[in-house]
Amino acid sequence: MARNFQSTVIEFIQGDITRAEVDGIVNAANSSLLGGGGVDGAIHRAGGSEILEECKKIRARQGGCPVGEAVITTAGRLPAKYVIHTVGPVWNGGQHEEEAKLHSCYIQSLALADQYELESVAFPNISTGIYGFPKALAAPIAIRAVKEFLSAHPQTSIKKVQFVCFDKENEEIYRKLLEQDAELL
Ligand code: ADP
Repeated sequence: MARNFQSTVIEFIQGDITRAEVDGIVNAANSSLLGGGGVDGAIHRAGGSEILEECKKIRARQGGCPVGEAVITTAGRLPAKYVIHTVGPVWNGGQHEEEAKLHSCYIQSLALADQYELESVAFPNISTGIYGFPKALAAPIAIRAVKEFLSAHPQTSIKKVQFVCFDKENEEIYRKLLEQDAELL
């Protein structure tokens, strides 16, 4: 499934983000930048130790990565050229700026991709795994943030954004959003 937005194509696919053939993939990291489970573990396993070595250097320089922000490394053995590591919020009832922080993850990741002049970026469903952010709440935040960034940056290098849904539940949520709410895109 795909939708055009301005001069960018937004794609929705089910699969494993480590296989995405794009310039940059986004990692749902944790603030230590030292790797973890879920998509973070999969990216480090598939990409090799080079990614972790770069993360350690960033950590030595700036002491990790705050929630809602993003850092960039090369992508080791992955088909992508770069990994953008962003730290999603842990869901804690919804009264702790979780939505604003999740929105910020998408905006900050796209800002880095634009700064590095990437043409294509793939996102996982940040925070919706171990961090427990409700999936049905996270999906429209993700889509709106991407649209907002593209609207604000008409000259961006980013020509393709992929939402890579790994689990069935997210895939169904994104598909229904597209079917039911065409206005969202
Ligand atoms: P978080 O700690 O931010 O919740 P997780 O990695 O636990 O991060 O989950 C985030 C999302 O990534 C979940 O929707 C999960 O299904 C998805 N995911 C896990 N492995 C992969 C993968 N290899 N490719 C794409 N998405 C993945």
